[in-house]
Amino acid sequence: MWVIAEQENGQLMNVTFELLGAAKELCAKLEEKCCAVLVTAAAGELPQQLIAAGADVVYVVEDAKYADYDTELYTDAICQLSKKYDPASIMFGATDDGRDLAPRVAARLHTGLCADCTALDITDDKLVAWTRPALGGNICATIICDVNRPQMGTVRPKVFKPAEMDNNRTGEVIAFTPEAGAVSRVELVKKEALSSENAVKIDEADMIAAGGRGFGSKENFDVLEQLAALFENSAVAGTRAAIDEGWLTHSQQVGQSGKSVTPHIYFACGISGAIQHLSGMKDSDIIIAINKDAEAPIFTVANYGIVGDVNVILPKLIEKIKAY
Ligand code: FAD
Repeated sequence: MWVIAEQENGQLMNVTFELLGAAKELCAKLEEKCCAVLVTAAAGELPQQLIAAGADVVYVVEDAKYADYDTELYTDAICQLSKKYDPASIMFGATDDGRDLAPRVAARLHTGLCADCTALDITDDKLVAWTRPALGGNICATIICDVNRPQMGTVRPKVFKPAEMDNNRTGEVIAFTPEAGAVSRVELVKKEALSSENAVKIDEADMIAAGGRGFGSKENFDVLEQLAALFENSAVAGTRAAIDEGWLTHSQQVGQSGKSVTPHIYFACGISGAIQHLSGMKDSDIIIAINKDAEAPIFTVANYGIVGDVNVILPKLIEKIKAY
């Protein structure tokens, strides 16, 4: 079983440790090696970190041209590697890059892909059982692919606990150089960091202050920044209606056509709770909803609910939390 490692600014991303944590357990059931694949400009200490997190083997594809994620180059490297070593299954994070990369790799390897998984298991005949929400989050479908190899899936961030690190673990590091072939058709013109308020990605945040159309205006909506600022590793997010209003960017949308999130605390403010929104946040640990309509569907998934005007309640709540 392979896990495709992801990195940002030279650091392995949390999702990689989460996937390795899951893969390690699955590989124990499969009685096979847990492998990580690192495509990078500079491997440095990263292979050793992957081994500490549970990899028995780390395949390293290292070249300056992999400094930034590039669809063509990364797809080519992983496909060539896969053709040489023939893994039984490959797992990607359901991140922006993983969602771009995995379908292309699957198409080139003539195999299927189970996207956005939230649970994984091993069947009696040692196949991966990939479980994902379907029909707008109303059911969970478990997909088992016994036809093509490798079996492939993307797994949502924050579904699995990160692997515990053991710096005494040992493993094998295998360098791989793809044969020349793929040429990038992308020129990176500029990289722009997210503004400091939104530096935490919503699918990695522990606390999310989310808002919807109920705020009525961008000025009212901005109070969510104050709420988020009271918590560590927090982010502001919203419904598609809030994005359509221009109050947030698409990368902050939670739901069926946005991102799925599972923070420890999810504040749902002025959000009705449409099924397309609930499917992206209902698995959060604690959901606190504020809505002036006591019948709003958001209250069906909320652990705590406040019925009232969000523009009156939220500033008071912020003052209370500050005073706490
Ligand atoms: P509304 O549904 O308009 O709800 C506003 C809520 O605010 C109401 O419950 C109201 O009672 C409350 N309210 C109003 N004023 C106040 C006040 N002063 N104080 C307190 N409460 C107040 N939506 C998503 O969010 N994410 C998705 O990914 C997504 N994908 C979609 C995909 C498809 C194919 C489709 C068809 C739709 C999708 N939608 C998605 C849209 C979704 O159906 C809803 O339209 C959207 O979630 C509604 O957003 P909202 O709750 O902000 O607005």
